[in-house]
Amino acid sequence: MKEKTAIIIGAGLAGLATGIYAQINGYKTHIFEHAPRPGGVAATWKRHGYTIDGGIHFYMGFKPGQPMHALYQELGIDQPDQYQEMDIYGRFVDPIKNIRIDLTQDLNRLSSDLKAIAPDDSAFIDRFIIGIKAFKGGNFMASMAKPPELTRPWDIGKMLWSIRKILRYYSGAYAQPINRHTQTIKSQTLKEFIEHIFLPDVPVWFVLFTLGMFSSGNMALRRDGSAGFVRALEQRYLSLGGQVTYRTRVEKIITRKDRAVGVELKDGEKELAGMVVSAGDGHATVFDLLGGRYVDANIKKRYQEWPLFPSVVLASYGVTRTFDKDPWNIVLKSPTLIPTGFMMDNWMPVRIFNYGDGFSPPGKTVVQVMISSQWDPWHTLRRNEDAYRKEKEALSRQVLESLGHIWPGLDKDVEMTDVATPHTWWRYTLNRKGAFEGFAVTHTAINTKIYRTLPGLDNFYLAGQWNTPGGGVLPTFMTGRHAVMLMCKHTGRKFTTVS
Ligand SMILES: Cc1cc2nc3c(=O)[nH]c(=O)nc-3n(C[C@H](O)[C@H](O)[C@H](O)COP(=O)(O)OP(=O)(O)OC[C@H]3O[C@@H](n4cnc5c(N)ncnc54)[C@H](O)[C@@H]3O)c2cc1C
Repeated sequence: MKEKTAIIIGAGLAGLATGIYAQINGYKTHIFEHAPRPGGVAATWKRHGYTIDGGIHFYMGFKPGQPMHALYQELGIDQPDQYQEMDIYGRFVDPIKNIRIDLTQDLNRLSSDLKAIAPDDSAFIDRFIIGIKAFKGGNFMASMAKPPELTRPWDIGKMLWSIRKILRYYSGAYAQPINRHTQTIKSQTLKEFIEHIFLPDVPVWFVLFTLGMFSSGNMALRRDGSAGFVRALEQRYLSLGGQVTYRTRVEKIITRKDRAVGVELKDGEKELAGMVVSAGDGHATVFDLLGGRYVDANIKKRYQEWPLFPSVVLASYGVTRTFDKDPWNIVLKSPTLIPTGFMMDNWMPVRIFNYGDGFSPPGKTVVQVMISSQWDPWHTLRRNEDAYRKEKEALSRQVLESLGHIWPGLDKDVEMTDVATPHTWWRYTLNRKGAFEGFAVTHTAINTKIYRTLPGLDNFYLAGQWNTPGGGVLPTFMTGRHAVMLMCKHTGRKFTTVS
């Protein structure tokens, strides 16, 4: 069998990164992708002259000199003109209490703004700001330098040394979900603000890390959106000689004598190769494509018990306004809990695509609301086309009413509406229960080794967000890199990033 060939399942970020590193290292690869285009959950689609970016919000490591910038160069996405450093993370608005907090890179300003609304919580605020500062400028991908299979005790020692200043944040009070940590806060407004900087149930350190990255100028928006980012990755892969086939779903991974030797496609056709990498949904890979034959107790437990990243509804509106004075992100406390859409909270991040020309026709803008939602009710509802459509319509009307609290009369300027549900995410990317970032970021998940190989199966590798809880652009790229590092190790090659 030709050992220098590899089949990759999925052309999401991880699949494309795997393909790029594999091609650089001299393997001949072929990606099979179920969707009609690359990107996976970093998805973009067109509606009535508008481009809806349903993917990546911000890009870390985009600037030369920042940790992880090398990845941008290796993967062909180092395009300085496309990145716009984020000077504001978001504006938090509670229209009923008439509160507005801008979260900018200036942490002293943040501290005084928060103390103005919550004077009795000064001590908490001081600790929170100190925590953010501790995370400024660090290389948090140091723990992902190598796949777990190749990580030796001295690698762990080196990594722990590099993060020694923030080590204490990964345990104790800072490892608990932020909505538990905030129980000691006296001000309800501050409590809600802190909980909605990211998601209410992520660990405290995750929020500190995110704001540490942001406040050190390590986060950008991309002017041409996820579409431009994915296009650049795909071009890099193709320019290295990689092959990709879209609209082709892999149904089965073919094994012989406990070695992966190829895949069977939906139409029954078989494609053989020396190695197989799955960069698609983790559960489907292990239990469907491989029939659950290569699992151990840890893998079973992970898929049975670990909570998934919450799924979302994305309501996008094409509006005949320009929003020149608004920031790109407003986190709105909706005065009413939206009764439809199986919504889990009444805080809603509102993404305003006013930072690029390609999202809408001149003089118009896409405004998008992301709502944490549940999988089961949408999945059930989807069986009844009419009920599903009506639920989406009701939800988009109610969300629009909430937006009217920030922009009165907005509904009159809306000329396009699009609603994507958890079911849409699943249909488009096959991610289990529409969980668009894999497993939730919990203390257990973060502290568990997830191998890029399966027990008892040779010539097979796992890449993608299901192997790095919480997903994310850089971590998923790293899983692709890991898969190729292991391929090299197993086939006696020295891994390189130089093409
Ligand atoms: C709205 C949104 C905002 C986000 N914001 C950010 C952000 O700001 N910063 C950040 O770092 N991350 C962000 N993320 C997360 C990040 O985009 C994802 O974690 C990452 O893109 C996941 O990539 P992946 O390749 O692992 O998985 P996927 O994107 O799920 O790709 C898997 C691919 O495999 C294909 N596939 C699956 N099964 C098969 C099969 N059997 N046969 C053929 N093909 C198959 C799927 O169609 C899909 O294309 C965001 C995600 C979303 C949705």
